[in-house]
Amino acid sequence: MRVLISGASIAGPVLAYWLTRHGFTVTVVERSPALRKTGGHAVDLFRPAMDISERMGVLARVEEMATRVDRMTVHREGARKPFAVDLGKVYRAASDRHVEIMRDDLSEIYYDATRDDVEYVFGDHLTAIDAEEGTVVFEHGPPRRFDVVVGADGLHSGVRRLVFGPEAGVFIGAYLAVLSVPRERAVVGEYVGHLGAGRMAGVYAAEHMTDARAVFLFRAERELDCHHRDVPRQKRLLREAFAGMHGDVDGWLDELDATPAFYFDSITQLRADTWSRGRVTLVGDAGYCPGPAVGGSTSLAVVGAYTLAGELAEAGGDAGRAFAAYERAMAGPVRGARAFALGSARTLIPRTPLGAWALASGARLVSALPTALTRSLARLNQRGVRLYDSMAVKDYLGARTPRRERPTRR
Ligand SMILES: Cc1cc2nc3c(=O)[nH]c(=O)nc-3n(C[C@H](O)[C@H](O)[C@H](O)COP(=O)(O)OP(=O)(O)OC[C@H]3O[C@@H](n4cnc5c(N)ncnc54)[C@H](O)[C@@H]3O)c2cc1C
Repeated sequence: MRVLISGASIAGPVLAYWLTRHGFTVTVVERSPALRKTGGHAVDLFRPAMDISERMGVLARVEEMATRVDRMTVHREGARKPFAVDLGKVYRAASDRHVEIMRDDLSEIYYDATRDDVEYVFGDHLTAIDAEEGTVVFEHGPPRRFDVVVGADGLHSGVRRLVFGPEAGVFIGAYLAVLSVPRERAVVGEYVGHLGAGRMAGVYAAEHMTDARAVFLFRAERELDCHHRDVPRQKRLLREAFAGMHGDVDGWLDELDATPAFYFDSITQLRADTWSRGRVTLVGDAGYCPGPAVGGSTSLAVVGAYTLAGELAEAGGDAGRAFAAYERAMAGPVRGARAFALGSARTLIPRTPLGAWALASGARLVSALPTALTRSLARLNQRGVRLYDSMAVKDYLGARTPRRERPTRR
């Protein structure tokens, strides 16, 4: 059985790995000319995604590339002193098995685990799909036919547009931008930031990184008039949103014209209850993005990819049966992630100075309490901070046996 996956970031390579392990023949087409190694913020892997990574034989590399950014110092607009947060303690409360890792490092690890067994086609994308027949047209390559076609091509998925029509995302009130800045602008292992009503900016670096990343989150009452590929306008909007916040923030924004990597997107949530048609389905952000930066979308994408591959294997490649089982298995986690994302968007980017004060006070409290107490309190909250750890991952045929770690290829 031949499967085509569109998108080679997180969901795409994880799905490719599990499909080849279950005996499918896999092609991945990625729009960008090479693996997107630059740009983006750190992402979180919680217990289920860590367990899946272990079964893939890549856990040691994932842990080796962890950011280890475990301290946070935040200056609140209008306050005299900054507040400090023990991030390690916050992560330990949220998860028994967690790693923070740069998105591009994680993508490369999953890609490396599949590159010998999968046909990767970079610099191309689909322009037409016949969902019933499985025939596809590429922008550059010749048309081909596949038994199953999967969109793993992110929030602005081309597969979703071609098969289901224009985007139906719901804007949840904020924007995220990340840019690469010189490493000297950050303290290794520490996030240093500024928080005000409706906006938050910070910078950090990990030991193994050659640059630092500046992250910006800001509120907007309605969606701004800006296409997701219009970079000059995105940079203008970012400068406007953070004007006059602090000299540090001005310094990070000064790097905007020179930065080699820039990511900007609206925090948009996809709300569709079904994401399969004929021989086509969607995985990760393409199908059920809960909202970048606020909803644990990377862990959800890893769990979704593993589940889709497992259901296809259990159904012997019968797309109809497999997709129905996959959507049933993911319905609970997707609903949970959507609710979690709405709550964390409200908390992380407070609308008012009072909200910013409440966030600072809450963070201070978590840092001051003993770890055992924060863990016990968190465990009571399986729909909130413990949402991801409480997601059950099914054992599919032979998926439990961990693969031996592959030697690192650099
Ligand atoms: C460069 C980059 C930076 C990011 N930075 C952040 C961040 O800072 N914070 C955050 O919360 N999330 C970020 N994300 C999104 C984050 O990776 C996802 O939310 C999550 O990991 C789920 O991954 P995914 O594989 O489903 O989708 P994504 O990671 O969005 O990957 C989609 C992939 O599909 C490719 N693609 C897009 N359109 C097409 C097409 N038509 N044909 C073929 N391929 C296509 C893209 O190039 C990309 O490689 C970033 C994604 C990218 C690609």
